[in-house]
Amino acid sequence: MKPIFPSHWLGILGGGQLGRYFTQAAQDLGYSVCVLDPDEDSPAGKVAQKFIQADYLDEAALKEFASICVAASTEFENVPAKVLDWLSEQNVYVAPMSKPVSIAQNRTAEKQFLSNCSKLTDIQTAPYCIITSLDECKHIPEIMFPAILKTTRLGYDGKGQRSIKELNDLEKAWIDLGQVECILEKKLDLAFEVSAIVARAQDNQVAIFPVAQNEHRNGILHLSVVPAPLLSETQELKILEATKKIICELDYVGVLCVEYFVLRDGQIIVNEIAPRPHNSGHHTLDSCYTSQFEQQVRALARLPLGQTTLTQSVVMLNLLGDIWFDADQKLVDPPWDQVLAIPSAKLHLYGKTEPKLGRKMGHINFLADNIQSAMADAKSAMEILG
Ligand code: ADP
Ligand code: MG
Repeated sequence: MKPIFPSHWLGILGGGQLGRYFTQAAQDLGYSVCVLDPDEDSPAGKVAQKFIQADYLDEAALKEFASICVAASTEFENVPAKVLDWLSEQNVYVAPMSKPVSIAQNRTAEKQFLSNCSKLTDIQTAPYCIITSLDECKHIPEIMFPAILKTTRLGYDGKGQRSIKELNDLEKAWIDLGQVECILEKKLDLAFEVSAIVARAQDNQVAIFPVAQNEHRNGILHLSVVPAPLLSETQELKILEATKKIICELDYVGVLCVEYFVLRDGQIIVNEIAPRPHNSGHHTLDSCYTSQFEQQVRALARLPLGQTTLTQSVVMLNLLGDIWFDADQKLVDPPWDQVLAIPSAKLHLYGKTEPKLGRKMGHINFLADNIQSAMADAKSAMEILG
């Protein structure tokens, strides 16, 4: 199939910060962008040439979207797979397609897929079992504990999860999570967490970004550090190769993130996939020749993928709504002037009007010749922001 040139419109389902960066990357290349998102305060909707504020299943809205866009991608993991199929039927080029997206939407399908991939990658998933009834809660082998119970659908940023010490705690936790299908994963002894972001074009070209080392706080990404300081060269190579095999096995076109755990004994475990650019790839906006969002646009437009070389060491610090609240819980503006006095700081705010505790409002990339220096600047910013 021929490339889609910039006289055309591209569409993005989901209008959060990921959609906003997709939109801006597409606009930089000269495309017009249409965003579909239910939220009136959509960060992407504010910058796109066209914003359709509607539910993902709104027929009239989808018809309008399909009449405008030649191609469409998604930034929101839980866009109903049937919407992607319907758009394809309307001759909108959709990437990624519904099949890999629906695998990523369901932890059971995702674990089964990743577990099958271990033949190719030599990387296993955490031991897991599927729980669909109270009776199944009673018959889990002791060896699975301590464990983490995760809802099969709609979990993110650690939401929809319960930590389980022993078998006795399981029934209550499953009821607590709404008695929906869950997977129970053995809790592993993590040394650290990493992620790899990879893009694949329709002609099979694959381009991968360097592995990021990620630190979470309360289940939400706090810092990403690249190059990953604790990862050995051999481990990084193994992860890069595995990630490339996973994207090919999915027959995936677009940008995909694969999360991994590195255990204290050095073993690598594959955790989950996200069928879109990822928070741990926000550093690429400043640190790589091509950002993960430009890569998403290029893949969607059937253009060659860009170079993914890291130009400098980088630390990405996420900014949550919490820093907008003072000690009396009153809304205040964080001291951006002090943050920007740090020469290496590149501030990105998503244009969200309502800061909330735990809500991702922006991030700062700190670029330096080495990780120590980038990390020192990130720490100074954390002190300033409290
Ligand atoms: P989410 O979709 O919310 O990102 P994850 O499966 O990535 O769900 O889990 C969130 C976090 O919980 C992980 O980043 C990791 O810190 C921790 N975690 C998840 N599964 C395990 C596990 N099997 N063992 C130890 N820690 C885990
Ligand atoms: Mg995760």
